[in-house]
Amino acid sequence: MKPETHPNYEEINVTCSCGTSFKTRSTNCKDLHIEVCSQCHPFYTGKQKIVDTAGRVEKFRQKYGM
Ligand SMILES: [Zn+2]
Repeated sequence: MKPETHPNYEEINVTCSCGTSFKTRSTNCKDLHIEVCSQCHPFYTGKQKIVDTAGRVEKFRQKYGM
């Protein structure tokens, strides 16, 4: 028996469109590019992913009473 617990799993770098990158394991050795991640998806963050335009976000919140 060989001591290979996960012979085909490579650590890959996943890059999101928001700029966040993180590592995960996959049998696919290529880096991935995704549209949303847990750092920017409104479902996870509960807020807008626009963080560099605070003024517009404030207007948005005032308009919708958030
Ligand atoms: Zn993201």
